[in-house]
Amino acid sequence: NTPLHELDPEIAAAVDAELSRQQSTLEMIASENFAPLAVMEAQGSVLTNKYAEGYPGRRYYGGCEHVDVAEQIAIDRVKELFGAEYANVQPHSGASANQAALFALAQPGDTILGLDLAHGGHLTHGMRLNFSGKQFNVVAYHVDAETGLVDMDEVERLAKEHRPKVIIAGWSAYPRQLDFAEFRRIADETGAYLWVDMAHFAGLVAAGLHPNPVEYADVVTSTTHKTLGGPRGGIILAKKDFAKKLNSSVFPGFQGGPLEHVIAAKAVSFKVAAGEDFKERQRRTVDGARILAERLTAADVREAGVNVLSGGTDVHLVLVDLRESELDGQQAEDRLHEVGITVNRNAVPNDPRPPMVTSGLRIGTPALATRGFAAEDFAEVADVIAETLKPSYDAEALKARVKALADKHPLYPGLSK
Ligand code: PLP
Repeated sequence: NTPLHELDPEIAAAVDAELSRQQSTLEMIASENFAPLAVMEAQGSVLTNKYAEGYPGRRYYGGCEHVDVAEQIAIDRVKELFGAEYANVQPHSGASANQAALFALAQPGDTILGLDLAHGGHLTHGMRLNFSGKQFNVVAYHVDAETGLVDMDEVERLAKEHRPKVIIAGWSAYPRQLDFAEFRRIADETGAYLWVDMAHFAGLVAAGLHPNPVEYADVVTSTTHKTLGGPRGGIILAKKDFAKKLNSSVFPGFQGGPLEHVIAAKAVSFKVAAGEDFKERQRRTVDGARILAERLTAADVREAGVNVLSGGTDVHLVLVDLRESELDGQQAEDRLHEVGITVNRNAVPNDPRPPMVTSGLRIGTPALATRGFAAEDFAEVADVIAETLKPSYDAEALKARVKALADKHPLYPGLSK
């Protein structure tokens, strides 16, 4: 039982370096967050050793009495958190949850209707090289070129024309809320199932700051590590009619032994998400994104050719449009990295540049809100971003401002050597 630092100094050094990167930079990748220590403790526990194929009370292995308790708690808590009739907490990731959900609702060759990847959709919603694009007949809807909003007239038109088996509502890069009631109406009128992928905004839903898709959809999938702030993983929620199909799609359909250590960590994160502190944190997350959007739509930034898609945000992220800027997405990402802010470049709708370069940035606030950022800190980081994206920028001065913000809100202080 040799500690990591002695047994494997090379890996220990990479872990230490990553901790120090997270502590010293400002994490603004919209899909990332910082899991609480208790979540990481559960995830690093002896539950990793246990095989538990099956579901609580119906396992194919002996000795499952304790992992049964943990998994049942996770199921009960997440059902309560989102008001769901059914929950499966075993998917190893968001993509695994989506695969299991899609195969429970449709057969290979069936038609699915999802948001185009280049307009903010996810790989698993029908991208050409993904299982969803390879095994299903994909029809994609888009955002309106003028407003940046999902074109619901197009959704209805495509649904009537192609009669998809499943309509997918959900996104990886979209700054507004979807109209779930309208998606439901279109699904009902065209005989489609409605699947909502709330991976990005699940934390806002849990906090009551975003409409709850569970009230509208047949099936809802999510990750647990984005706004929800838990361990890396996936979940499926649904109406109880879908329980049998979904359970067997996850296991034995796509997975073997569940990751009970991760499931225990998910349970801890659902407990956290039900609390008042979590609500307050999600409020700061959304406020932070709004403050950022306001700063990036000010005249001095627009002069540098920087725009904000849809003109603002209702959620935890802002999409920056650099089509008129001298910087492309790659250069803007690199420049922010230079001053200590981590974001990802992101294609904008009808992007003239190739996918590895892009003309946009996706900037999110969940990780900084978890770190304790309040409105004045978000105003400061928004100003640093605005100044960094201008043609002339003072890297050293901006780095110092980033360092001051990082020092003001220490991350995982107990973990530092
Ligand atoms: N669904 C959406 C909407 C996402 O944005 C993502 C991740 O970015 C996923 C699913 C996939 O999650 P994972 O990376 O855990 O497979």
